[in-house]
Amino acid sequence: MLIKLTLSLLILLPGLGLCMQGLHAQSLLIRNVRIVDVEKGRVLPPCDILIDQGRISGITQVGAIRLMPHVKIYQAGGKYIIPGLWDMHTHPDDPELWRMKPDAKSRDLLLPQFVMHGVTGTRDMAGSLEVVKDWKRRIQSGELIGPEIFAAGPLLDGPNPMWDGSVGIASPQRVQPVVDSLIREGVDFLKVYSLLPRDIYFALSKYANQIDFPFCGHVPNEVSCAEAAQSGMKSQEHLLGILLDCSSRSEEVRANKVDFGQAKGLDRYVLRQQLLLDTYDPQKAQQLFQTFVKYGSWHTPTLSMWYKNAWFEREVEKDRELYAYLPEYMRRYWTPEENDHLRYRDHQGFIQMKQQLYRKYEELVKAMHQAGVPLLAGTDMGANPLCFPGIGLHNELSCLVAAGLSPAEALKTATLNPAIYLGIEKDYGTVAEGKVADLVILEENPLEDIAHIREIRAVFKNGKLYDEQARARILDEIAAKLK
Ligand SMILES: [Zn+2]
Repeated sequence: MLIKLTLSLLILLPGLGLCMQGLHAQSLLIRNVRIVDVEKGRVLPPCDILIDQGRISGITQVGAIRLMPHVKIYQAGGKYIIPGLWDMHTHPDDPELWRMKPDAKSRDLLLPQFVMHGVTGTRDMAGSLEVVKDWKRRIQSGELIGPEIFAAGPLLDGPNPMWDGSVGIASPQRVQPVVDSLIREGVDFLKVYSLLPRDIYFALSKYANQIDFPFCGHVPNEVSCAEAAQSGMKSQEHLLGILLDCSSRSEEVRANKVDFGQAKGLDRYVLRQQLLLDTYDPQKAQQLFQTFVKYGSWHTPTLSMWYKNAWFEREVEKDRELYAYLPEYMRRYWTPEENDHLRYRDHQGFIQMKQQLYRKYEELVKAMHQAGVPLLAGTDMGANPLCFPGIGLHNELSCLVAAGLSPAEALKTATLNPAIYLGIEKDYGTVAEGKVADLVILEENPLEDIAHIREIRAVFKNGKLYDEQARARILDEIAAKLK
């Protein structure tokens, strides 16, 4: 405590030529860098940032303090620094991939990629809890490079779950024992899934609220988005169900009372989606968005996941070289032959409908944002094709800007918003004294063009520096191991 006080005193007295005695060996000074203030959406004048024991211990005028020779200096040359990014929807151990028999060593190589691309924190939205706990332990001990992880563990689905590894809850009475045991095993929150029956969902929301434990996920098919918000679902994923709620004919569609003629199967599904697009009611939408705001319901649109899927054939060509960083089992799964999300690519009407839906999702995101609905950046990285670890988050930010957010607003969805959502803004979310030194240095100002988020010069994880050479070396090593 004394050292810390002395240190802050030194920094409050710039220009005195003081020596930084007693600093931890890991001390590092970032010289001459411009902080991107993600809260106010502006760039601050150049400064020096002192990092000590993994945290930002001081921010001062450029050159205001003279350091002991052993303190390492990173010359930032007036470039830009942002807080480490968060991907709020990831599945590095996606249960949907288990049938491809993932090789654990290859799978582990996904984690450093997040950090190398500036993603220093993630929300793990389903996977084996044992695997994720092992990752957390090894990342903590320094054995594995990886992001901070907040994890759901298994999906909570209905009695006949959609995916392997989910917990199927068969009755409202089963909710409490299932939830209690997951919490004992160490999940950070609960993730509910699409097939959870209505009565079981409400039993779960009631119990989670009673014990004040966060739950989020897919709004179950039998529940409306407004009901999900009102019942305390903390975040809703992928914009699922919103178009149905906003349709002027939502009751009929829900009750399966719309006449689609002879159309069956996929054709019928396409007609149903088309009807939702055609009957979108902006007034109903505004009401719904106000409900989200009122109940503090966050949204993770995962736009880039929808985008890459809707235009897969074109996008896969663009992303071809990134396949070098995928484990072999993922390369195999990200093909129309294997992938559940790439079915019916030869059905023109279906693909056109997906592309139309995407344009509507952009409109929804803009309208929700303008209505004050809080948004989180997330990629759905895992089984979904072309949602790459790290780079996928850059894509998501570009999608959010294309949808109508400013670059500053988009940046907030991956920095300050995740910190607020997770209740960790004391330690994360902005570049400020006392916070954990998870930082990214960019060549150009990301507030001018969000594409600048891709031009990374250095990443700091818990104060540990990965400069250009280190990043290139680590990424090359990963590609070599995955050959
Ligand atoms: Zn997901």
